[in-house]
Amino acid sequence: MGRINLLSKEISELIAAGEVIDRPSSVIKELLENAIDSGANVITVEIKNGGRTYMRITDNGCGISFEDVPKAFVRHATSKISQKCDLDRIMTLGFRGEALASVCAVAKVDVITKCPENDYGTHYRICGAQEEAHEQSGCPDGTTIIVRDIFYNVPARLKFLKKDVTEGNAIAAIVNKIALSHPEISLKFVRDNKTELLTAGDGKLYSAIYSVFGKDFASSLIPVDYSNNGVKVTGYTVKPLSAKANHAFQNFFINRRYVKSLTCMHAIDEAYANILMTGKVAACVLMIDLPPDIVDVNVHPTKIEVRFSNEKLIYDSVYFAIKNALLNEDKESDMDITPAVTRNFTEQQLHPMFKDEKAQQISISFSDTPSNPQPAVRPVQPIVEQVVVKAKEEQYSTDCELNNRAVIQVPHKESDAMPQQEPVKSPRDIQTEALFEAENESASSQFKYIDKSSFVKKELSVQPQPQQPAETVIPTIIGELFKTYIIVEAEGCMYLIDKHAAHERFIFEKIKEDVKNLDCQMLLEPHIVQLSFDEYDAICENLDKAEEIGFMIEPDVAPTVAVKGVPLIISELNPSDVVCEIAENFKHFKVNPQLDVFDELFHSVACKAAIKANDNTSDAELKVIVKAVFNNPKIRYCPHGRPVVIKLTKADIEKQFRRIV
Ligand code: ADP
Ligand code: MG
Repeated sequence: MGRINLLSKEISELIAAGEVIDRPSSVIKELLENAIDSGANVITVEIKNGGRTYMRITDNGCGISFEDVPKAFVRHATSKISQKCDLDRIMTLGFRGEALASVCAVAKVDVITKCPENDYGTHYRICGAQEEAHEQSGCPDGTTIIVRDIFYNVPARLKFLKKDVTEGNAIAAIVNKIALSHPEISLKFVRDNKTELLTAGDGKLYSAIYSVFGKDFASSLIPVDYSNNGVKVTGYTVKPLSAKANHAFQNFFINRRYVKSLTCMHAIDEAYANILMTGKVAACVLMIDLPPDIVDVNVHPTKIEVRFSNEKLIYDSVYFAIKNALLNEDKESDMDITPAVTRNFTEQQLHPMFKDEKAQQISISFSDTPSNPQPAVRPVQPIVEQVVVKAKEEQYSTDCELNNRAVIQVPHKESDAMPQQEPVKSPRDIQTEALFEAENESASSQFKYIDKSSFVKKELSVQPQPQQPAETVIPTIIGELFKTYIIVEAEGCMYLIDKHAAHERFIFEKIKEDVKNLDCQMLLEPHIVQLSFDEYDAICENLDKAEEIGFMIEPDVAPTVAVKGVPLIISELNPSDVVCEIAENFKHFKVNPQLDVFDELFHSVACKAAIKANDNTSDAELKVIVKAVFNNPKIRYCPHGRPVVIKLTKADIEKQFRRIV
């Protein structure tokens, strides 16, 4: 006798329902999405006992006609698509025609609905997929769906429900996401007779964020607005000093649909690299709008995960959107020290102070400051190499005095032809040289770290800014406080600059700049590294990029690669570990795929080489620090996320002295 049974409709319905509805919050998600698709602009969600006994959703949308109501509860019945090609251009939240069928299979459902064009409405009742009532009824336009006693007929599922408060919180989280993604809808959430959320429905994302997360969170945000090859990224991201302890505050919406996206998460993490305090992560509410044909929402029954036809495009769009916003952050923040025109991010306007020699003047209040500070400027590259080498030496041989140590020469591509013996330098020499290199920097080299071709220029082409005359900020150095903070006056404001933090960031940026030309240390024998197939593919597609950062890698039998060379500065590390890490970085489309260990090394180099609090610092050195801070928007946080500069306006000070109220 055969062993295969055809399952009854009842059992197959329950199995199918289990995919879509696993707890009360999934009912709310589906019904809210239906309400939005119905064109409603006022929606109320009410729940009791964590949604276990009672959930009601009321909308003022298009309603369902008398004859359509029973059809709506049949699996794969939908008004949103009708043919195969519709799947490639889905702009509604629902399209699978499964939600109502799944809900009614596991609960007792009442529907009261009326289309505005009809004189009467409909009352429909269906319990465990069995129709119990279908009658005409007087009711307002729109649809109300009441779901009672979820899983009353699936005791196994009921057992897995958590405490009412936990289930209620899961529902609140869903309602919050919908409120954020649809600020044009006034959304009300009532839990056990208490209103917990009411959004204005004024179409402004900021109002929705304010209602959902409160005033403190809303005021810690900076706007994001960026377009890249048909992908538009708008919304808000957090100021670095207000970052959160976990990823819970990262909200991504693709075409107004809340999604969990590792690609977006990795992109935002990379954009905030080296500006957050340890243990902090970014928060954001980002709307990513893109043509529906480059995103596949049909990969997950609840559509929480999506797939992109070009993940790298999405990664880059999010990364550069955030980088842009962070550079623009100065506008409203306490660190607003760049002249107004530098905020507009056109090529000409980025750093007028660097372009316009006349504008570079900084007035110094010390009488004996030389107008042209000494010592003479040295070429940048060898100094950075030495800084790196010195720090490495310091890491591995702490018993030597840095001042007396011989400097190891690191061969460099450009300097190979003319090897030169550098004199031994003290840390102080390095500090001073690194400082005075600032004088030699051009505006373009200051900004190399951001991929300008896909960042500034694209921004330019999308949002051309009107030409404005160059403004200048002429900071006056008032003095030094506690041998730690430089007091500066400019444009009616007082600034306190942490000299160590500023200098540390300055050196860090410079080393990162030079890391692009890292030398490769050839290994005596190739090192065979086993990767996952994903990682293998990612590294094989990026062999040239790996070479740029000092790795000589050749594909071997998949999924192994032969590592023939590694960057000199990390040659002591295990090649397997570092190659796995860069493979992982390529897999996640990182814009800067260098190893995290580089950053750690550079942090430590920058920290050691930078001027310290309590050091005696010459007026000329203070001047260069101030100039660097005022000219380079990257110098706002030290590499560990501490702020570099604090601003107090004249009005702030006058308020303290009660000169103004
Ligand atoms: P889907 O949303 O994938 O189309 P559902 O099972 O969620 O499938 O809904 C089935 C159909 O019922 C929808 O296509 C829509 O026509 C109708 N419907 C459901 N909810 C509402 C509502 N609140 N207002 C108007 N029509 C609705
Ligand atoms: Mg639906």
